[in-house]
Amino acid sequence: MKRIAVLTSGGDAPGMNAAIRAVVRTAIGQGWEVLGVRRGYAGLAYGEMVPLGARDVGGILQLGGTILGSARCPEFRTELGRQRALRALRSQGAEALVVIGGNGSQTGAYELSRLGFPVVGVASTIDNDLVGSEITIGVDTALNVALESIDRLKTTASSHGRAFLVEVMGRNCGYLALMVGIAGGAEAVVIPEVDTDPEMLAQELHDAYERGKSHSLVVVAEGATYNAARLAEYFHENEKRLGFELRVTILGHVQRGGAPGAFDRLLATRLGAAAVEILAREEHGVLVGWHRGEVVTTPLADVVGKENPLDPRLLELARVLAQ
Ligand code: ADP
Repeated sequence: MKRIAVLTSGGDAPGMNAAIRAVVRTAIGQGWEVLGVRRGYAGLAYGEMVPLGARDVGGILQLGGTILGSARCPEFRTELGRQRALRALRSQGAEALVVIGGNGSQTGAYELSRLGFPVVGVASTIDNDLVGSEITIGVDTALNVALESIDRLKTTASSHGRAFLVEVMGRNCGYLALMVGIAGGAEAVVIPEVDTDPEMLAQELHDAYERGKSHSLVVVAEGATYNAARLAEYFHENEKRLGFELRVTILGHVQRGGAPGAFDRLLATRLGAAAVEILAREEHGVLVGWHRGEVVTTPLADVVGKENPLDPRLLELARVLAQ
């Protein structure tokens, strides 16, 4: 009999609950016990763990967020914090840990595995910036939630001939903004990876108007140098000269809150189950991700400190389709 622990960490993503459920029920199928860690690494350091049975994870498949809670834990970045977590895991009889989370969380998972504890990561973040998974749990739902808002904004933008700016999440990574921009038919996309000159942006919007467009929609990632606040300020200060103003909508945490769609439920279920199967094969120190329709594993050592680069062809596609 084996006892494993599972936690969710960092930014929550729709589908995390489906992953927890898959981990718990697959582990029980192996004849193991599962401990659910509350509040990510913060709870781990304080030994906040509860036994999770098959019925405890009933009715959560369709819920956004995470029933275990998530937190940011600066203490886990220190050797002292990680040693403390290790003691808590061992004192509760946990022999392995499954970490469901994004880039930062998987770095924590790697650090723990370097201390000799068996850890398997599950790729889950709406940022889609994890090396080792071409798509991560939560991305698809976050895109759909953002698109629903954008479609509504476009309706009102068209009616009034206005320019709208929508800010979506993405601290260092413009994936979400770019994909929302393409799928939502934006006139322009502003992302951290590409320098944007607000004067050129204004010109692009002006040109779109000249080409007969009844509205303009700009999608901007929160981490872009010119984020929504800075662009709005620029356009406001130069309104007379530029000839129009930008109406700003910040989607913020709304994007995270959706109930996971079919894609995220299935992805989370398959990755969560695979994490347990990997542990059953006595393997660990890897991230479980998705590539070309298959579950894949990548050593955590090859995942940390890197980010998925944006595909330049998608940037070009966004530009061409904005004609
Ligand atoms: P995400 O996993 O969504 O990228 P964060 O970047 O906030 O979210 O990371 C979540 C948590 O992972 C942090 O609060 C911290 O406890 C842990 N973590 C992040 N970076 C490291 C690191 N370099 N070493 C150890 N733990 C880390």
